[in-house]
Amino acid sequence: MNSSLKSQKKTVVVTGASRGLGLAICTQLLQENYIVVAISRSLSEDLSRLCEEHKQSIAHIPYDLADLDGIHALCKSITEVHGRPYGLVNNAAAGLDGVLATMHNSEISTLLDINVQAPILLSKYLSRSMMLNRTGRIVNISSIIASTGFNGLSVYAATKAALEGFTRSLSREVGKAGITVNCVAPGYMQTEMTLSLQGERLESVKRRSPLGILASPADAASAVSYLMSERAKSMTGTIITVDAGSTA
Ligand code: NAP
Repeated sequence: MNSSLKSQKKTVVVTGASRGLGLAICTQLLQENYIVVAISRSLSEDLSRLCEEHKQSIAHIPYDLADLDGIHALCKSITEVHGRPYGLVNNAAAGLDGVLATMHNSEISTLLDINVQAPILLSKYLSRSMMLNRTGRIVNISSIIASTGFNGLSVYAATKAALEGFTRSLSREVGKAGITVNCVAPGYMQTEMTLSLQGERLESVKRRSPLGILASPADAASAVSYLMSERAKSMTGTIITVDAGSTA
C-alpha cells in the first residue's frame, strides 16, 4: 500500500468483509476514498477481485473472530501496519438459528462470542487509537430482530439487542473524544445468511414492506457510509433502520 496515500486517507476496519453486507460496505467505502482493512476468515472471489481492483486502498486480514484472545494482537498489528484507524464497522456475525430448548450450548457460545464479545473487544482496542486521533467512528451492525420477535432467533436477537445497548452507553463514554458510535439495523436482506428463507416465506417478508421490496446490502451499506462521513458528525448513540419499512 502506497504510504503517501495512507497519510491522506482515512482508514476503516470492516469485519465480515468477504461477502454480503460487509462486501457492500467495503465497496462503498473504497468508492468514497477510504483505506479499508477487511477482516474475514476467508478471502472470497468477490473480495479478492475488490482487492485486485483497489490494490492501493484495501488490505485483507484473515482472522477468525471466535479467537477472542487474539483480538488485542490483531488490533495492535492493524495499527502498526496501517496507522491509527479512523473507523470500525462491526459487521461480522454468526446467523445460527434454532429452537432454544434444543440448541447446543456451543452454538449459544459461538453466537455470543462472534456477535457480542468480538465487537466489544475490537471497539475497546481500536477506540484507543481513535482517542489519540481525537476523532473516530464506530458502526455496529444490528438487526430489526433486536427489537422485533422472530421464531428460532432468540439467541441471535439477544446478541443484536446487546449490541444496541452497548452502542448507546459507549457513545456516552467516548463522545468527549470526538468518537461517534451508532448502529445500522437492516431488515431482511438476501445474503448467504438468509439463504434458507425462500418461496412463500420470502414473498411474505416482501409483502410486509410498504414499498413491496427488500432492503439490499447496498442500501444498508449506504447508511454505514453516511455514518462514517463528516455529514453525520452530530449522530451518535442512535440506530438507523434500513428495512424497506417492514417494521413501520
Ligand atoms: P453473511 O453473508 O453470512 O456474511 C457474514 C460475514 O461475516 C462473512 O464475511 C463472514 O466471513 C464473516 N464472519 C462470520 N463468522 C466470522 C468469524 N468467526 N470470524 C471472522 N469473520 C466471520 O451475512 P450478512 O447477511 O452479510 O450479515 C452481515 C451483518 O448484517 C451481520 O451482522 C448480520 O447479523 C446483519 N444482518 C443481516 C441481515 C440479513 O437479512 N442478511 C438482516 C439484519 C442484519 P468468513 O465466513 O469468510 O469468515
